[in-house]
Amino acid sequence: NISLSKKHMEISPSITLDITAKAKKMKVDGIDVVSFGAGEPDFNTPVHIREAAIDVMNKGLTGYTAASGLPELKQAICDKLQNDNNLAYKPANIVVSNGAKHSLHNVLQAICNPGDEVIISVPYWVSYTELVKLADAQPVLVETSEESGFKYTKESLQRVINQNTKAIILNSPNNPTGTVYTEDELKEISEIAVKHNIFVISDEIYEKLIYDGKHVSIASLGDEIKKLTIVINGMSKAYAMTGWRIGYLAANEEIVHVINNIQSHATSNPNTIAQYASIAALKEDQEPIQKMVEAFVERRNYMVEKINTIEHLSCRMPEGAFYVMVNISKIIGKTFNGFTINHSMDFANYLLETVKVAVIPGIAFGADHYIRLSYATSLENIKEGLKRIEEAIQ
Ligand code: PLP
Repeated sequence: NISLSKKHMEISPSITLDITAKAKKMKVDGIDVVSFGAGEPDFNTPVHIREAAIDVMNKGLTGYTAASGLPELKQAICDKLQNDNNLAYKPANIVVSNGAKHSLHNVLQAICNPGDEVIISVPYWVSYTELVKLADAQPVLVETSEESGFKYTKESLQRVINQNTKAIILNSPNNPTGTVYTEDELKEISEIAVKHNIFVISDEIYEKLIYDGKHVSIASLGDEIKKLTIVINGMSKAYAMTGWRIGYLAANEEIVHVINNIQSHATSNPNTIAQYASIAALKEDQEPIQKMVEAFVERRNYMVEKINTIEHLSCRMPEGAFYVMVNISKIIGKTFNGFTINHSMDFANYLLETVKVAVIPGIAFGADHYIRLSYATSLENIKEGLKRIEEAIQ
């Protein structure tokens, strides 16, 4: 019987990667495409981190490590969590994996049973729903509103929590909305999680990319919530290390024990050289993050201001990450140059085909009245791309 896995055949491809691949191909073909699709910083990994990698290779530190990661890296992660997030963890609470995405996959595999429900806010990052399904659990989508900053509210959570609820996925700063939760809002969520005894998977991968407000880890709000929280973070966004594939999680030892066993069979340790480079990233000069933040804040401000001057488009000011969700409600149903726009995908295709601008349709995040623009691209590209979008809908 050569039929394939029913569960895995139901997993959707990533629309984000699809569109960016299409735009990349057009570029290779010599077409002048402006891409707002990027999900990664447009900066190289800081030089001292690259040098640390070269150095360990030359020293011959190129073998396996413990499956759950190098003890020195786990210690550096504990120090980071203590210093930045006021969280006391021991190395035995840490698992280092092949990116934060892998950490998310591991934790969902470790905690979910068939029939469990995992709460996800809409608009959501594309992989959450599929990772939950891979763990045989059910994504439960909670709609949010742009007016309330695309955030969970107490009422919206209480409406969906039942005896099958296993976890809430929280992502602040958020992809795709850029939303950052305040400490008071996190307190409300933590009270609900503690009251109902459900896990919080707190994806803090964009922690360092905040322009208004500050990052608070929900796990730092008390011992009870700390026990229920799995903190997810990684090197990709803060240190422009997306291709190095190092992410990590911090959780109670029971969860870590299960994840260690999963990871030891599925992948063994994440790349050894990248782990050593991550120690340098966490322990040495943090100035490159500051430089990146300065560039992002300038681009964000320009982008948001400009979008709000374009007829039919609007957006809120995102506090973090490097994305803007542009409201296209007023575009839906209209016809431009013979193209009728009924969905965000129509609009994304229209922009790519007519003015060679790549954007991610909101449907990829469960929000069809939006498109997502990334400002992880030069100010020059942003100016040109927005000019083209403006022309396309005049
Ligand atoms: N979580 C969110 C919200 C993301 O946007 C991303 C990357 O785009 C990740 C996790 C995964 O990051 P990585 O696997 O590169 O560490």
